[in-house]
Amino acid sequence: MTVAASEKTSALASLLAQSRSTVVFTGAGISTESGIPDYRSPGGVWDRFRPVEFADFVASEAMRLEFWRRKFATHGLIARAEPNRGHRAVAELVRRGTALCVVTQNVDGLHQKSGVPQDKLVELHGNTTYALCLQCDERYDLEAIRAAFERNESLPVCAACGGLVKTGTISFGQPMPEDAMRRAEAATRACDLFVVVGSSLSVYPAAGFPALARRCGARLAILNRDSTPLDELAEIVLHGSIGETLGEAVGVA
Ligand code: ZN
Repeated sequence: MTVAASEKTSALASLLAQSRSTVVFTGAGISTESGIPDYRSPGGVWDRFRPVEFADFVASEAMRLEFWRRKFATHGLIARAEPNRGHRAVAELVRRGTALCVVTQNVDGLHQKSGVPQDKLVELHGNTTYALCLQCDERYDLEAIRAAFERNESLPVCAACGGLVKTGTISFGQPMPEDAMRRAEAATRACDLFVVVGSSLSVYPAAGFPALARRCGARLAILNRDSTPLDELAEIVLHGSIGETLGEAVGVA
């Protein structure tokens, strides 16, 4: 770490130490260090394959087949991924009680795996490690769905109501989950420090939260590999390894 980077890391450490109510907002950048690619970034998978949109999933069996083929092509990578030092640092802030809430754009379940309780976590884009009935919200394990799909490409249908079953993620064109949005907004309004970790802040409505936190009087720190459109609102901006920087600032190995 350079001298400038280490001074900024100390400044982040002191912001975290002074805060009684932090919101940590995470994006794909925290999970790339666990080997999960950032599908939305330039050169990512979504540059080559257009994602299956929600309306197409609902309307077309061919699109549902395509959706599940792609899901199971990357499923193993996510199922095997382990939390890294960045996730452990976030979990430690929650454990200490200074972080009110972790709001994430990620769908990989690594915050839960690192020990963040579900009631301290808001998943804005849902979760890809299980499946849900679109009609009645019944939850399904992916392994059983995968076994049936790989046998003869049979598509999952809800045993309780006959509805379509999809991963727990929020697809393009699918309405944002109201409860998650409400919880994220309430935490953002209540916090005294808002820390962005590994998000390019380019996807709305998620990108609106840091500005809302500032308007409500919270301090703002941004830790991301590249600069973001909201850097000028932040008290500290750090570009570097998330695991190393946040691990250092929180004191977690
Ligand atoms: Zn159902």
